[in-house]
Amino acid sequence: MSQPRTLITGAAGFLGSYLVERLVAQGHHVIAVDCLHTGQMANLKAFEGLPNFEFLKHDIIEPLDLKVDGILNFACPASPPHYQSDPYWTWKTNVIGVMNMVELAKKNHARLLQASTSECYGDPLVHPQPESYWGHVNPIGIRSCYDEGKRAAETVMMDAHRQFGLDIKLVRIFNTYGPRMRADDGRVVSNFVVQALKGEDLTIYGDGKQTRSFCYAEDLIDVILKMFASEKGFTGPVNTGNPGEFTMTELAELILQMTGSKSKLTYHPLPSDDPTQRKPDITLAKQKFGWEPQVPLKEGLKKTIEYFDHWLKTQA
Ligand code: NAD
Ligand code: UDP
Repeated sequence: MSQPRTLITGAAGFLGSYLVERLVAQGHHVIAVDCLHTGQMANLKAFEGLPNFEFLKHDIIEPLDLKVDGILNFACPASPPHYQSDPYWTWKTNVIGVMNMVELAKKNHARLLQASTSECYGDPLVHPQPESYWGHVNPIGIRSCYDEGKRAAETVMMDAHRQFGLDIKLVRIFNTYGPRMRADDGRVVSNFVVQALKGEDLTIYGDGKQTRSFCYAEDLIDVILKMFASEKGFTGPVNTGNPGEFTMTELAELILQMTGSKSKLTYHPLPSDDPTQRKPDITLAKQKFGWEPQVPLKEGLKKTIEYFDHWLKTQA
């Protein structure tokens, strides 16, 4: 296959745009699909006009008919305020959207990789979380459109694999950050960095003792592409993330120190069902791909701070 035709959905979003960058550079013919709900065309500007890049504005809850060899399905709002703003549509994206991708993959005999999430583990009672853990998830809470939606998507994918022999791959992505997130994305790293740079109060939800493990985007993309290239039959799920674990107060203090900001830490109510702890067990990814994250939090934050600093100055 000289030039694989690869569909990336959610391509104008944070992670999707890194996939476009890597696969265009590797010589794939990239078909970038996005409905531009949280995605930004600015993330794709560098590729416009390239002969091996095309953009299609499309919502994956509607069927899509294209000639493709492989699909990376990253379409879905990922930030709690965004996925909760229209929960019914988030659910459709995760279930009907994924079923549409399955149909497209079936028709083309194409490989389909699904961006799943650590949210499949809910508020985990097992720590760190291995892939074998079934999770602790509230099916009727405000996060369910996303976490139960992504769990349902995994079910759709596994059933399509067992029933139709579809070539599938599942990656459970843990909190990932870096340049090209939106300033108003709403997730914690972009919130704290933008607040610190603007001299605004940093908004800690709850007591700040809850933990997350933060992976730098380029590290994550390395393992996603290894998974996408892995042998047929290896479906995963595979945990992908950085096991370094931090409380939200530690993150806020580090960002204040690195930006030299005089902003204050302020405490706000914890949203319901907010997981108290999260850390990936990445033994499988290490064994299978010899992969582990290379970018420590401080180094990744430095690049992220530089990105938002530049972004804020050019908006002024
Ligand atoms: P993002 O919000 O920046 O990107 C999502 C993109 O998908 C946006 O461009 C949005 O417009 C597009 N989109 C959403 N619904 C769509 C639909 N129905 N049809 C077409 N396009 C649609 O978020 P992100 O952080 O880049 O996340 C990308 C994927 O990775 C998501 O599926 C998310 O669930 C998954 N993920 C991300 C993380 C993380 O920490 N970044 C963690 C776990 C899982
Ligand atoms: N959080 C916070 N302040 C913010 C945004 C988020 O304290 O301005 C907290 C949030 O309550 C959660 C953690 O940071 O405990 C990570 O939140 P994020 O939305 O980034 O990711 P997720 O909860 O989906 O892991």
